[in-house]
Amino acid sequence: MRILIADQIHPEGIYYLKNAGFDVEEKLDLRNDELMNEIPIYDALIVRSKTKVTKEIIQAGTNLLVIGRAGVGLDNVDVVSAKERNIKVLNTPDVSTTSVAELVMGFMISAMRHIPQATASIKSGEWKKERFAGKELAGKTLGIVGIGRIGNAVAKRAASFDMEVIGFDPYVNNSERIQSVNFDTLLSKSDVVSFHVPLTESTYHMLSLKEIRKMKKGVVIINASRGGIIDEEGLKQGLDEGIVGAVALDTFELEKPFSTVLAGYENFIATPHIGAQTEEAQRRAGIEIAKVLANYLRDNKS
Ligand code: NAD
Repeated sequence: MRILIADQIHPEGIYYLKNAGFDVEEKLDLRNDELMNEIPIYDALIVRSKTKVTKEIIQAGTNLLVIGRAGVGLDNVDVVSAKERNIKVLNTPDVSTTSVAELVMGFMISAMRHIPQATASIKSGEWKKERFAGKELAGKTLGIVGIGRIGNAVAKRAASFDMEVIGFDPYVNNSERIQSVNFDTLLSKSDVVSFHVPLTESTYHMLSLKEIRKMKKGVVIINASRGGIIDEEGLKQGLDEGIVGAVALDTFELEKPFSTVLAGYENFIATPHIGAQTEEAQRRAGIEIAKVLANYLRDNKS
């Protein structure tokens, strides 16, 4: 069976598939029309987030049995068209949980202790101790929106920093570490709020100026889930009104091309969607997608 790898995955994943007897070809950076020309001869396609698996590509994949996405979100795969053609779509939802949770802890500490701003100041030759007085995480309340894999992993780490952890999730009532509250209570009680939800109709702009005005003065707002969940205009307004103390974002509504209204704010820190960009998460994603895809092909070969 022939597998096309269209985005770079960890070499151990490729090794696993070859060793399992599959005919594996790696063709990276194909344009959409090139992928459409290539796809008909393959039984399986593996991508990460770069390649867009559109309806046209799925229709051209006349032999396709399965599409594997090494990573979590399926935003780049037209899952509806795949389902219509009875093509299985697999992903690896667990592989980046630890990496994202660690980035979020980094955001929390950076926001409280102004590490990025102090670094920039030191590099410009300044020595301004008073300017970088900060706050401890211990004793603060962390509000987690979305009590799933990453929300729970963040809660576990925050508890070890002696934070109180509360959370809101309409579909999850109990979690070992997180006390469930409604969204308004979370907004009014939390010193730090971190979002860990998928982007859906109900989560799009779930934090806008209206909600920000219910928050504690000086609140730290973190989003390492998906862009569009927080209204960045609302955040800007919240910073201007002195309600929001700091913002830390890994994900943005406009990533390609990138744009944000927050860029000029001193207490805004950010990373370019690197939550899952660790050696360990990428390795796990490559190996895991190879395993689940190989199992699927073995079980479904006619
Ligand atoms: P998950 O499915 O385990 O958890 C998501 C939780 O959100 C679920 O418990 C769900 O019930 C809850 N939820 C859904 N709608 C909600 C709403 N309206 N209000 C509150 N909660 C709601 O997902 P996960 O693995 O924890 O991932 C969380 C998010 O992180 C996803 O958006 C994922 O795409 C993103 N993510 C980002 C990166 C990155 O690079 N920054 C990497 C991996 C995952």
